Amino acid sequence: MFEVSRRDLVLGSTGAALVFGLKGPVSFIDAASAQRAGESLSYKVGDIEVFSLHEGSIERTVTEGIVKNAGLDDVKKALTAAGIGPDKIDNPFTVTAIRTGGKVVLFDTGFGGNGPASVGKLASNMKAAGLDPATVSTVVISHFHPDHISGLWVKETNEQVFPNAEIMMPEVEYKFWTDAALVEKVPEANRPHVKRIQATFPTWKNIKQYGDGADLVPGVKAIATPGHTIGHMSFLVASGGQQLFIQSDVTGIHQLFVRNPGWFSGFDSDGPKAEATRRAFFDRVIAEKGMIAGYHFGFPNVGTLAKDGNGYAFAAVKA
Ligand SMILES: [Zn+2]
Repeated sequence: MFEVSRRDLVLGSTGAALVFGLKGPVSFIDAASAQRAGESLSYKVGDIEVFSLHEGSIERTVTEGIVKNAGLDDVKKALTAAGIGPDKIDNPFTVTAIRTGGKVVLFDTGFGGNGPASVGKLASNMKAAGLDPATVSTVVISHFHPDHISGLWVKETNEQVFPNAEIMMPEVEYKFWTDAALVEKVPEANRPHVKRIQATFPTWKNIKQYGDGADLVPGVKAIATPGHTIGHMSFLVASGGQQLFIQSDVTGIHQLFVRNPGWFSGFDSDGPKAEATRRAFFDRVIAEKGMIAGYHFGFPNVGTLAKDGNGYAFAAVKA
């Protein structure tokens, strides 16, 4: 019987198997680097090596609108209860990578060189984890928000950072963002991002579009999780009877939105759909005894989920 407890979440040579509740052992292959600066972490899902790579974070002032359908007082109360904020919070970015069959696959890219000084750490954290950015064979994109795809472009140019990799993009997302009419529909501040997408992606020969259920690379399947954006995608990494769900932005920071799945993030394009998606997705993760990794979960960004009243609780692994 698989049970989540604090003790089981301490990943050691014996505890690791309990975390995944599965047949084979899960091993940290570089626990030292995880402890070094809390910026890279590696573990295994069956035969697949998985890496959590900190890309940076951006501090946000907690204001009205961070949650569309909850008052500022309730939001600050939730943050205080979680031991963060309540007036300012960090929005962290963590890219998941896998190495399998000699191939390196990235899930999203972070801002790369196109964000503030507090981000853009993916390349250095890849190197620290023993991954050479030049060897990335596939980049799987979850959705087109700037914090997920800006790392595809070289700073201040439209050149590709990963010209030799296959870039896999959700087909629904691609269609939405490359519609010429979108430019006029989005707020002024978002237009440069939309224009950059439209000026480049249709000319890049290494983009391949995918849909729900697609087998992206051996051991990795796409799962449509719309709501945050219209074509938002999550991923299931499975090997040797073990499962890791890469949720992308099914929720933002877990202290607010895993705990309160009915709260609509200011970044969710369709709040009710996002809520329905996250409840269904989280129920599946729990039912299938999988691990979950979140892009905005902070570090470490991987752990287990449990039902908690009308919401859920995320317990991160301890390296
Ligand atoms: Zn995001």
